[in-house]
Amino acid sequence: MKLSEIGEFGFIDRLSGKFKHLLLPEYLGIGDDCAIMPFNDEEDYVVTTDLLIEDIHFLKDRITPFQLGHKSLAVNLSDIAAMGAKPVGSFLSIGIPSETEVEYLDSFMKGYHELSQKYQVPLLGGDTTKSKKYLTINVGIVGKCRRGKARLRSMAQNDDIVCVTGFLGDSAGGLEVLLHNLPETKDNLKLIQSHHLPEPHINEGLWLAKQSEIHAMIDVSDGISSDLLHILKASGKSAVVDLDKIPVSDKLKRVTLAEGWDLYKLVTSGGEDYVLLCTLKAGSFEPINTGFKATFDRDLIQIGKIIEGEPRINWTKNGEPHILNQHGFDHFNDLATWKSSIKGF
Ligand code: ADP
Ligand code: MG
Repeated sequence: MKLSEIGEFGFIDRLSGKFKHLLLPEYLGIGDDCAIMPFNDEEDYVVTTDLLIEDIHFLKDRITPFQLGHKSLAVNLSDIAAMGAKPVGSFLSIGIPSETEVEYLDSFMKGYHELSQKYQVPLLGGDTTKSKKYLTINVGIVGKCRRGKARLRSMAQNDDIVCVTGFLGDSAGGLEVLLHNLPETKDNLKLIQSHHLPEPHINEGLWLAKQSEIHAMIDVSDGISSDLLHILKASGKSAVVDLDKIPVSDKLKRVTLAEGWDLYKLVTSGGEDYVLLCTLKAGSFEPINTGFKATFDRDLIQIGKIIEGEPRINWTKNGEPHILNQHGFDHFNDLATWKSSIKGF
């Protein structure tokens, strides 16, 4: 059987069950944005790691080394944010072709360092090795949260409101701009920036996790059609999502109209926006949003509702059911079928 037949998540399912019996009590292993390990009576550690490989996740001649350093850390910080945790340290392991310019690596570290500085996350270690051809980057991050208060994918409850913390689709729009070598207009450059310099929603995650009304949480790395489905599978729930309520930036609307893109595909399956998707206790949107707006100067956006049923997303448009034949990104299923074999660069 080929890996492409079971996909990325099929592979993860095959290995996760084998290790469950080794988990100590109160540890959480494979299956969420981070693993959780009790630290003391007050706090838990959360840990995550992500891999970026040249020509799969990025094209070296399209992303600057500064942006690559930023993005390598940002995508990991986003998983810490999804737990509602505070990052406390990172590890950077890197496989480098020997002809790489030292200036390239300095610039990479500048991007990594600036974001580390912003969220006060020291680099605690890592590994450096030679790579024959491709630049390979693995970042691991440790975070902390109040004991038992991390938000899990499995915490969604019936009638919860599904919310996101920011625009969807800009990053996927930026990727389209790059793939089609579109002109460097102001809108196009901003979309590329969303793709190359994603901002992890660390502060939003910390704030949301302090509110008892916030139940499940995940970061949007693969597109909401995939990431919300992770919540639904882990929680054993179904959801209704209104396509008209998905927040789309004006610049993405303008470029989508001009280029004739499929907007719903971009906003549901594009991925790499790294905003947070959370579910919120029925009836509590107003007070939570008032606090969110006072803190972040923008609204939380309601896009749907959790309902009883099989794990699937029921899309609606203009109040009517709408069929979307798409899903979020899966490395092994989608590489063959996507028009580009590159997830992002
Ligand atoms: P995310 O998009 O939030 O980084 P992933 O979809 O990459 O999450 O991974 C889902 C879960 O599977 C996570 O808990 C992750 O730690 C785990 N996982 C992925 N690949 C492996 C692997 N090779 N070995 C062990 N766990 C893995
Ligand atoms: Mg994640």
